[in-house]
Amino acid sequence: MDDLKFGFRDKRGNWSPDAVLDIAPFWSGRWSKMGAFLIEYLWPWNAFHMATALLYWVFLIPDIETMQTLGWGWALRLFAANAIGIFVLFGAVEFFYYVKRKQDTRFKYNAKFPSEHPSDVFWFKRQNLDNFLRTYLSSIPLWTLCQVLVLWAWANSWGNWVEWDTHWPWLILVTLLVPAIHEVHFFFIHRLIHTPWLYKRVHSVHHNSINPSPWSSLSMHPVEGALYFAEVFWHVLIPSNPVVMMFQLNSTGFGAINGHIGFDKLEITDEAALDSHAYAHYLHHKYFEVNYGAEGLVPLDKWFGYGKNHKPRHGKVYRNFAPELARLQNERIAAFREFKADVDAGGYPEPEHCVPIADGEFSAFLAKAHPDGEDHG
Ligand SMILES: [Zn+2]
Ligand SMILES: [Zn+2]
Repeated sequence: MDDLKFGFRDKRGNWSPDAVLDIAPFWSGRWSKMGAFLIEYLWPWNAFHMATALLYWVFLIPDIETMQTLGWGWALRLFAANAIGIFVLFGAVEFFYYVKRKQDTRFKYNAKFPSEHPSDVFWFKRQNLDNFLRTYLSSIPLWTLCQVLVLWAWANSWGNWVEWDTHWPWLILVTLLVPAIHEVHFFFIHRLIHTPWLYKRVHSVHHNSINPSPWSSLSMHPVEGALYFAEVFWHVLIPSNPVVMMFQLNSTGFGAINGHIGFDKLEITDEAALDSHAYAHYLHHKYFEVNYGAEGLVPLDKWFGYGKNHKPRHGKVYRNFAPELARLQNERIAAFREFKADVDAGGYPEPEHCVPIADGEFSAFLAKAHPDGEDHG
């Protein structure tokens, strides 16, 4: 695929998309965009997390009696599933796009590959190995611990486990809200660990990967890992169900890859590609103080002023051009709309806008422009 049809490559070879990061269309009344938005909302990433949630429910989550007692057997089975799932998903993206380099640097935000740039900040100076080990030694065990605790609490009637046949409208609503719960929870814990004291001791581990790749996704300090996976405890506070809870947890665990894929699109065939939704979080890894949340489903970054035009801590503002640039952009959009409406209504072009030319003169001009007789339409 030609990535330059979708974006721009700078002198260093770094690619950025033309499409601007935008908040969900319902916040700005763009109802005509809702169809496309809803399809992207579900397909393919959330559909994948829902499907894995169902697989866990059918094949892995034990019966209530077993879960009433904490035990290594069922906990280790869930750990193995999480660990293998991550190995297959993150490993596949890493293998095809970072090792085999199936699409080279097409759609890649940062032209460099982490494996070629050893750095002292990482264990063994290797980003991939450091990130991989932190994922397996700390994040996946914490993920499994949260999972086991919620199931154990539910099995012992703490929390509010409701059934699909009696509470299906509520459970459908919660299912649809799972990505929003994720964005809100992530935004607040993420902003918290960006406070200087916690940043230095906790979150800097994750930010060592300035140029993230799939293994960076769950490479976190254990305190961050615990806060991150604690998202699932919302399902003890609100009435919920194991399948919906698993959807939440799988979009937290497996879904962590989205911000760290490093490519805007993953080419599947010559014409088809998968949108990674990675750009907002890639910019967070690059610029630190922007985009604490994710994609603008709940646009907390916009409301708190951490999106576009954010002023970093070391900066001072002498003149603010943002409102003026926004005004000009609105004028541009309004002008193009008026132009289109005018053309559609036949108001443009009128005879006075046209410069007439005699047919003979026009043919002579064409003959001179294309002396070889080629017809260029
Ligand atoms: Zn990250
Ligand atoms: Zn951060």
